[in-house]
Amino acid sequence: MKASLPQNESEEERERRDRRLQDNADFYRYDHKYLKEMPLLQTPDRDLEFPAGENSSLRYELESRGSLTPLVANMLVVKLTSEWDPFDRLNDYEEYFPLLPRPDIIRNYETDARFAEQRLSGVNPLVIERIDALPDGFGFTLDALQKECGNGVNLAQLLAQQRLYLCDYSLLKNVHGGNYQRGRKFLPKTVALFAWNGVGYADRGNLVPVAIRLELDDNSLIIRTPNNCTVSDWFIAKTCVNIADGNHHEMCTHLCRTHLVMETFAVATGRHLADNHPLGLLLRPHFRFMLRRNLTAREELINQDGPVDKLLAGTLEESLQVVVDAYHTWSIKDHAFPRDIERRKMQKLPAVIGGGEITPHYPYRDDGQLLWEAISTYVGEYLGLYYQDAPDLKDDYELQNWAETLVSPTGGKVKDLSSPIHSLDELIELVTTIIFTCGPLHSAVNFSQYDYLAFTPNMPLAAYDKIPTPDNNVGRSGRSDPLLSFLPPPVRAGEQLQVAYALSAFRIDRLGDYSFKDIAAQEALERFRRQLDEIERKIDIRNSKRIVPYPYLKPSLILNSISI
Ligand code: MN
Repeated sequence: MKASLPQNESEEERERRDRRLQDNADFYRYDHKYLKEMPLLQTPDRDLEFPAGENSSLRYELESRGSLTPLVANMLVVKLTSEWDPFDRLNDYEEYFPLLPRPDIIRNYETDARFAEQRLSGVNPLVIERIDALPDGFGFTLDALQKECGNGVNLAQLLAQQRLYLCDYSLLKNVHGGNYQRGRKFLPKTVALFAWNGVGYADRGNLVPVAIRLELDDNSLIIRTPNNCTVSDWFIAKTCVNIADGNHHEMCTHLCRTHLVMETFAVATGRHLADNHPLGLLLRPHFRFMLRRNLTAREELINQDGPVDKLLAGTLEESLQVVVDAYHTWSIKDHAFPRDIERRKMQKLPAVIGGGEITPHYPYRDDGQLLWEAISTYVGEYLGLYYQDAPDLKDDYELQNWAETLVSPTGGKVKDLSSPIHSLDELIELVTTIIFTCGPLHSAVNFSQYDYLAFTPNMPLAAYDKIPTPDNNVGRSGRSDPLLSFLPPPVRAGEQLQVAYALSAFRIDRLGDYSFKDIAAQEALERFRRQLDEIERKIDIRNSKRIVPYPYLKPSLILNSISI
């Protein structure tokens, strides 16, 4: 379809566009009740049809179902084997991969290095931040904390050298824990501190955990460090952090801050941008199958007795409250890639003389930066073909209606977005953020799920016992090893593996894989694709030098849209 701004059309053509959009508005309706006040597509029912253009294709359905065949076979073998081999050792979790690829994390998930590295290149690299002081309400002074760390760590010096990092999971503070057949589930409340040891080369330093603060069931706070507790207690403390990270990943980073926040923009696009509107033509491939996919998630993932209810730590209501809280603390501006990095003080710092890099290697930042720049250039070139100056924007009533609906309290409720849109730069940044979120960001946090979550002991989605202390009685669930009573029982571990597999099992397309009728637009797209090929080569070289490769932002592995 040839792109055209509405103000440049004949009267007759404008009327045609208006009529089509009025029809669309009947299908693309906002709902603010399904998940508290979050703006989502109104759930289709007897009186409201799902918008036909958003349905998944036959190929999508076939590939998504076909992708599960290896999983079904794998789980069958697991079931047969478990009949003569009882589950009674930690190693038994490794027996879940008779046919499926064994995730690399199994090799060394217990080590401090791999635990810390996951903050930088794991499933949820969006939590870690650099700190200049201990956060308010931390509960311990620097001196008290230093005592627990022992002589091997100098916290004051680390702070002075800007080498102290923090992972704070207070967004999960209202999760108390759901139930399962045999008792309670728990969400450990944790804050973790890390230090960066730079040793000359940016990619050859390492991040190490220095202390983990845990909140016990009676609300008292304890500090665990490699120096002040047993190997087993330290392993459990690290597992607590990974449990929190897994819950934060699924409810905040993945479900809320990619799938659901983008739904708002797809609904406004359906309502206000005609089929041949240039912005609609640019955005639609990046929303392909997303509304359908999100509807399936409501029906099959976040439903009563569904995987979120069963596997995550909280009750279903508590987990969904995390989604809502994550939505209220999200804004399209602050969470645009460059600002997100700055807000968490994760930019590269200049090297100190003779001391090598003082900032961690951070694959999500380093590879993400290449993609952000390429998308921004592409969007700028594309939109520049249609909008030459400010009046082009002002007169584009479809675009301005789109923006008005997005910011409206009865529509998309998007904060930090201005309506009307005055400048092309503003629009370029907005559209770059949308495409980055639907493409690179979602793929990075989605396709890493198998690698980090399928092997449950690395990142269990819930604890099944209290945090063991000398005063409480762990192993109450009757399993021989206290660690086994803390980790998910075998059935849950199997289910976690299946969900992690199913959510990252297949890719329907790749970033930039679509076309335009306008020759100049097609040329901009082809330049973008060449840029992506260049980025692919750069990332391959980087990965060959990285201790743990980060494949998730390789353009060939990034989808256009949130289609899985
Ligand atoms: Mn996803």
